[in-house]
Amino acid sequence: MQNCLVKQDGGICDVVWKDGHESSYHSTWLRYNCQCKKCFREFSGTYTIDILSLPEVLSVTKAEVHDAGKALKTWFQGESPHMTEHDADWLRSQCYCDHCLDCDIIKRDVINSQNYAGKLPTVDYNMIDKDEDRFKFNVLKGVVDSGICLIQNVPTTPGQVLKVASMFGPIYSTLYGNIFDVVDRKAENAAYTNLLLPFHQDQPQYESMPGVQLLHALRFDSCVTGGESQILDLFRAAETFRRENPKYFQTLCEVPCKFETMD
Ligand SMILES: [Zn+2]
Ligand SMILES: [Zn+2]
Repeated sequence: MQNCLVKQDGGICDVVWKDGHESSYHSTWLRYNCQCKKCFREFSGTYTIDILSLPEVLSVTKAEVHDAGKALKTWFQGESPHMTEHDADWLRSQCYCDHCLDCDIIKRDVINSQNYAGKLPTVDYNMIDKDEDRFKFNVLKGVVDSGICLIQNVPTTPGQVLKVASMFGPIYSTLYGNIFDVVDRKAENAAYTNLLLPFHQDQPQYESMPGVQLLHALRFDSCVTGGESQILDLFRAAETFRRENPKYFQTLCEVPCKFETMD
């Protein structure tokens, strides 16, 4: 951090960084995010101030760069005198200028058949023996970046999917229990058949829909035709729909429709 400047009658504090980048922080934002010992518990990462007890209008009276550019201190009027402290690295990471927000948004590519052919995030199950943390990181990165990750060479023993799932956190049960065997048994649920299932989302009627689901192919005989898992980037579908048919997209957003499912 190079220097700082209070502007707009104390409503804004501008910070200039050593690389030339400039950030503007609103005084209210700085006060709410104060990281002094009184306002912030470092060990739990939680704020202890009651923001409703602060005045509606808060303004910075003075701002100074401290610790050779590693901290920003600001003084406020509008409440009993308070000096806020912010770590420079943290403050920079929170910059909410248009450029920084754009950088965050651009990081995720939507999936389509052109830009994604052959690029499905793929992790080898055997990596667990060598570096379990790396295995988990790679799987989660695939899910976060692309919404999907393929884990290859998982042993085809029944229940193995639970072992993999529990490496990432507690398993949420559904009406079907912790595990759901997709086998043809002519039951009422379409997943219990060998018919082609159109694109769909599982359990959309739940208050908390499944966030991450794991599917494990235990058997795929060479005589079988079909059976591919097809995926669709719904964000891309919605965005294409919004651009090409804005009127219909608006209808989709605004008109309630009946939804029914049988479980
Ligand atoms: Zn404070
Ligand atoms: Zn910025």
